[in-house]
Amino acid sequence: MKEVEEEVRILEKMGHKRLALELGEDPVNAPIDYVLECLDTIYKTQNENGQIRRVNVNIAATTAQNYKLLQEKGIGTYILFQETYHKPTYEKMHPKSLKGDYEYHLTAFDRAMEGGIDDVGAGVLFGLSDPRFEVLALMMHNAHLEEKYGVGFHTISVPRLQPANGVTLENYPNLLTDKMFTKVVTILRLAVPFTGLILSTRESASMRRELLKYGVSQISAGSSTGVGGYKEREEGKEVQQFKTNDERSPIEILKELLDDGYIPSYCTACYRKGRTGDRFMSLAKSGNIKYVCEPNALMTLLEFSLDYSDEELYEKALQVINKEVENIEREDIKKLTKENIKKMKNGERDFYL
Ligand code: SF4
Repeated sequence: MKEVEEEVRILEKMGHKRLALELGEDPVNAPIDYVLECLDTIYKTQNENGQIRRVNVNIAATTAQNYKLLQEKGIGTYILFQETYHKPTYEKMHPKSLKGDYEYHLTAFDRAMEGGIDDVGAGVLFGLSDPRFEVLALMMHNAHLEEKYGVGFHTISVPRLQPANGVTLENYPNLLTDKMFTKVVTILRLAVPFTGLILSTRESASMRRELLKYGVSQISAGSSTGVGGYKEREEGKEVQQFKTNDERSPIEILKELLDDGYIPSYCTACYRKGRTGDRFMSLAKSGNIKYVCEPNALMTLLEFSLDYSDEELYEKALQVINKEVENIEREDIKKLTKENIKKMKNGERDFYL
C-alpha cells in the first residue's frame, strides 16, 4: 500500500483528479480484498491541493458478489475490454488462462449490473479481428445492456494494436490503417453520440489531435504503463509494459487542446452527485447534460490552472474561461459559475454542479 500511495502522490502532483486502477488477473496475489484495499488507499491519499476524486477500475471479469463490493467502495466506471468479440480469435489469443472463457468474459457487464454497478466502459483491441465485425459486435453488446438494464456503455475505449519490433505482421492481418481507424471512431461517434470515447497515449500526438475532431471525448495524459512506473520515471529509470506514443506532459496537452478550441475538463461531478446509470443516460441522450458539463469544465480547468499550470497555460485557460462563461445559456448557472470562479481565485476549491 505504501507503493500505491507513492504512485498516487506523483499522479496528484500532475493535477490528476481521476485515475484508472488496473490489475492483472491474479487471484492469489490480487484477490478482491487487495483491490478494495488499493481503492481505500487511493481515496485517502491527499496532497495540499486535494485528492483523487474518482477511480475507475479495470480488473478481470469476476462475480456479481465482487462487483457489489466494488460498487460499495464508490468506484467510477468499471472498465473491461472484450479485446475481440470474434470467438475463435479470442480463444486463440487467450490459451490456457482464466481469461480464456469467452462467455464468462462476455457476460461480465451483466454480472456487474446485477452487482449494482451501473456505469460500465467497454473496449476492443482493434487489430485482432475484422474491425467491421468488432464495431457491430460492440453495438450489439451495448444494445443488449440497454434492453436488459436500461443503460448501455458509459464509455468505449479504442486501443489499436500497433506494429512493433518483433511482431510479425502476417500474424495480424487485421491491423488498422490510420484511415480505417478514423472511420471506426467516426462510426462509433455517430452510433452512440452520448457515449464517451476514450483514446490513450498509445496513439501519437498527431493522431490524437486528429481523432478529437471525429468524436474522441476523453484522452489520458502523462501515462506510464509500467508497474510502479511513475516513481521509476521520477527516478529516471522508467520501465514500460508497452510503448506509448504521446509522451507529452498534461500541461503540454492542455495547451494544445486550448489552442484547438476545446475546453479541457477535469470534471468528476456526476459520480459525486449520483448522476450515474439511467439518470446519467437520460441527461446525456437529451443533451441536457451540457448545462452541468460546461460550467464544471470551466471550473475544473481554472482549478488546474491555478494549482498546477505554468504562466502560459494559465493565461490561455483564463482567456477561454472568460469567453466561454459568457456563452453559458442559463442565466442562473452563468451567475453561479461566475461567483464560483471568483471564489476560486480567492483560494476556495472544488466547486461542481
Ligand atoms: S458533468 Fe459532464 S463532464 Fe462532469 S462527470 Fe458529468 S458528464 Fe462528465
